[in-house]
Amino acid sequence: MDYKPQLTGLFGTPVAENPSVVMLEAGFHALNLNWRYITMEVQPENLGAAVGGLRAMGFAGINCTVPHKVAVIQYLDDVSPDARLMGAVNTVRREGDRLIGENTDGKGFLRALREDGGVDPTGKRFVVLGAGGAARAMTVELALAGAAEIIIVNRTAARALPLVNLLNENTPVRAGYVPWEETYAIPPETDVVVNTTSIGLYPDPNKPDIDYDTIMPAMVVCDIIPNPPQTRFLDLAAARGAKTLDGLGMLVYQGAIGFKLWTGHDAPVDVMRNALAEAFGVK
Ligand code: NDP
Repeated sequence: MDYKPQLTGLFGTPVAENPSVVMLEAGFHALNLNWRYITMEVQPENLGAAVGGLRAMGFAGINCTVPHKVAVIQYLDDVSPDARLMGAVNTVRREGDRLIGENTDGKGFLRALREDGGVDPTGKRFVVLGAGGAARAMTVELALAGAAEIIIVNRTAARALPLVNLLNENTPVRAGYVPWEETYAIPPETDVVVNTTSIGLYPDPNKPDIDYDTIMPAMVVCDIIPNPPQTRFLDLAAARGAKTLDGLGMLVYQGAIGFKLWTGHDAPVDVMRNALAEAFGVK
């Protein structure tokens, strides 16, 4: 018998409602891996000590969520090039004695877009609603994957402009900013529209303020809100004939990429998706 599991987990605060444990442990169980995923409430002033604890206890890795994605970097030994560009880490993996920071959020979106949406981002034009942490991770990956144009639509210029500059200065993409002051009309040449705002996250029933009549059947419309997976935004886009992609897929794939980084095994994506759907009460 081996009574000592490999340890992984999550640092955040507040963190009690984060369902990642359900998805990751379902994956470990399905592959018969003696691995655990522990959800840990870590206050910002204790982050350095908590990372020291990971090293001391030989954790295989962790995820970081709000508010640690930026601050954790100072405690790591190295950071992947894309996470460095974003300035944010959501996954830490151990390589020997070293802790390496990665960011799987944007990669999770890319995988959902490619595998579930059938969209190759190369040469495509994107409209991204919102400019927060998730938008930052996603747009960097889209730009590195060869997107032609990314238009960022956001209320707050102070959040959007640094992101637009970062993309234009460090990647080949053409990035632009549109202040979100009134109902936004999607430009007809757009290929993919993504809602990265928190509008529509349970229990908020609202939808982003766009002119839904400007959504065309040839567009792919994505929401990264994982709960509920079927948002009003997606309902209205589907009613216009557009193909839609929900945020559950992105959440599952970003976890699946972390699963592979930690364990070396391909993640059982369907098992993980079902576990999450059950946790959200949609199955
Ligand atoms: P942030 O707080 O960093 O950013 C929130 C963004 O939403 C900002 O751009 C903000 O605009 C905008 N926003 C919020 N409310 C409104 C509103 N009423 N009108 C217009 N804009 C608004 O959050 P994150 O980027 O970390 O997360 C955003 C969402 O993405 C969350 O709901 C989260 O659950 C989800 N998410 C999903 C993931 C997945 O795997 N599916 C992964 C990560 C996040 P402003 O700058 O003007 O304030």
